[in-house]
Amino acid sequence: MKDTKFLEYRRLLVIAENDARDRLAHERPGINIQTHGDAIDNLIEALDREQSITTSMRATEVLRNIHAAFARMADGSYGECAHCGESISPKRLAALPWTPNCIRCQERLDEQQPDTDRLSAA
Ligand SMILES: [Zn+2]
Repeated sequence: MKDTKFLEYRRLLVIAENDARDRLAHERPGINIQTHGDAIDNLIEALDREQSITTSMRATEVLRNIHAAFARMADGSYGECAHCGESISPKRLAALPWTPNCIRCQERLDEQQPDTDRLSAA
């Protein structure tokens, strides 16, 4: 990988890390279990809480992936798919600089794993 590209992805990762941290810091106060007010208030609070938890979970997951990406940058494996070892396309890295998988492996994983987005709709 060219140094300029590498530095660009590193810059994107730092921005994404700050963004995820901000979101976590912002959402955390929402995760308080309070039961006061009427049923509608409680329902709205429950929905807010669920939204906060979903956002926090996503931000935590992204942070974990970002830290793993920094580790791959340090050991020189950044940009290689963790599953098949092929190069991850620059377009994919520009959109998801923390991704450990190439698009083909990711699609295969997505097929195997239940869609976590559906949990909140259940
Ligand atoms: Zn792959």
